[in-house]
Amino acid sequence: MRWSKTYIPTLRQNQSEAELISHQLLLRGGYIRKLAAGVYVYLPLMQRVIDKFASIVREEMNKAGALEITMSVLCPAELWQRSGRYLTVGPEQMRLKDRHQHEMVLCGTHEETVTNLIAGEVRSYRQLPLNLYQIQVKFRDEIRPRFGLMRGREFIMKDAYTFDASEESFAKSYQAMVDAYFTVFRRAGLDVLKVESDTGAMGGKAAHEFMLLVDTNAGEEKIAACANCDYAANVEKATFKDGATVHIDHDVKPMQPIDTPGAATIEEVTAFLKVDATRLVKTLLYVADGKPIAALIRGDRDLNETKLKNALGAIDLEMADAETVERLTGAPVGFAGPVGLREKAPLLVDPLAAALRNCIVGANQNEKHILNVNIDRDFKATKIVDLSKARAGDCCPRCGSAMVVKDGIEVGNTFMLGTKYSETLGAKFLDADGNEKPCIMGSYGIGVTRTPQAALEKYHDDKGIIWPRSIAPYLVEIVPISMASPQQVEAAERVYSMLTDAGIEVLLDDRDERPGVKFMDADLIGLPIRLTIGDKSLKDGKVELKARASDKVELVPIDDVVGAVRTLAGSLT
Ligand code: ATP
Ligand code: MG
Repeated sequence: MRWSKTYIPTLRQNQSEAELISHQLLLRGGYIRKLAAGVYVYLPLMQRVIDKFASIVREEMNKAGALEITMSVLCPAELWQRSGRYLTVGPEQMRLKDRHQHEMVLCGTHEETVTNLIAGEVRSYRQLPLNLYQIQVKFRDEIRPRFGLMRGREFIMKDAYTFDASEESFAKSYQAMVDAYFTVFRRAGLDVLKVESDTGAMGGKAAHEFMLLVDTNAGEEKIAACANCDYAANVEKATFKDGATVHIDHDVKPMQPIDTPGAATIEEVTAFLKVDATRLVKTLLYVADGKPIAALIRGDRDLNETKLKNALGAIDLEMADAETVERLTGAPVGFAGPVGLREKAPLLVDPLAAALRNCIVGANQNEKHILNVNIDRDFKATKIVDLSKARAGDCCPRCGSAMVVKDGIEVGNTFMLGTKYSETLGAKFLDADGNEKPCIMGSYGIGVTRTPQAALEKYHDDKGIIWPRSIAPYLVEIVPISMASPQQVEAAERVYSMLTDAGIEVLLDDRDERPGVKFMDADLIGLPIRLTIGDKSLKDGKVELKARASDKVELVPIDDVVGAVRTLAGSLT
């Protein structure tokens, strides 16, 4: 391809719409343009990157025995009503009515469509296992569609769905997909960590996420990982053994109200009373599906809202606003406590809070706390359940070693769905004994537009992108320093033909631009290899070969260019 014949609108200035380096580079490199929040146009270079990554995904899915299909994006709302997800997915789902006033949805995932497809078609265990996948556009009305392709409202996903007749068979299908995922990401130059995750609105039994760990600010997920064994989980899901040193009193003392003027937050109360935060219990008020609830956790811990949501089986969970807090406790925010609160709201108590003796709580009165409060004597828990968020230094639930917390980008995930969809949508088969059973299902996603952008969080420097070779739009950029030099143009054309004939993908910068501009653009768009053609080396019949990631320049005779490019490419990620 010649630069003059394609469309690469590079930009010199940083774009204010982009917070993340990867987003910035895609805009500046002329890869994408925004149409509306979370809605992008993929320009020619991006299209090639997406196609490259999609081919890797397709090859590995096919190898794993998955069959490619394409399902419609549009789906009757009725299927989502039957699975129950019309309610649980809520405003993230794009909905519309057709001209006959039928309610329709634009799918953000295809469990309903694929299960409905199988229902009534697959009747015998002999037709199973079955693995169907597609690479296709998805719609989700994300609350915060920032970060470019990382979180679009319209984006491309590879989604696969497995149907099995038995748990043993399902375990094999699941493992085959997990193995294929590691291969996909490795081929794209990405080292990913498989972590346990919450199943969320997807439902089902268990799930894993494939995380790209990053040092930049792009990690939307936190991962608790054991430094010793292979336990790793999304912090939303992670369990732990408490690593804090906590003093537990032996004697139970009488309750004692105390004035705490001006002290409402944990920091203020601990400073005022000169006690450790582990002696306090925080009472956090929430509204879950319209009803107030109170969550109690130890003063030094943070609440994990996903755990709370799961403990309640709630669809919608929000912190109570100041007005609700006042109505429930009779005091301003900061003084809520469990004593006497249970008539107003159920009390969910974290085990670390429940283990304390003589703890300090809010008194449900302005600027007052109560000392020596004890569970069971002074208040009763509706439920004792893990609500604490794991943090660095907590001990691994498996081996007890200290855990670290890392930032990651979720590039793919795998769900063990069980029979939730096959039961509600009727995907049943007859087993060898003639008994009717629901298929055991799995669902598996990879972000086809998110992953290449995520890769850029790793693969860049201060000048621009450095693509891993397998997903680069072209392998080589040829840069003749001056288009006014007939010798350079001739050599460039020759090298271009040699490489193209050898099946190597090349971009020739044939623009009549200053060399500085061409080099800056070459660094920005980030093709893995650059061939520079200038008068000096041409005198000896040579061109300059350089990897984007390195400053080392090699002078190569024109006749040897194909071999030299291949050798250099072989040494790159
Ligand atoms: P997240 O927690 O990041 O919202 P998710 O759990 O909703 O992701 P899935 O529904 O399992 O994701 O989708 C499968 C894959 O699709 C994800 O692993 C991710 O790579 C990609 N993906 C999900 N949402 C988006 C989005 N809004 N934009 C781009 N890619 C996305
Ligand atoms: Mg999501």
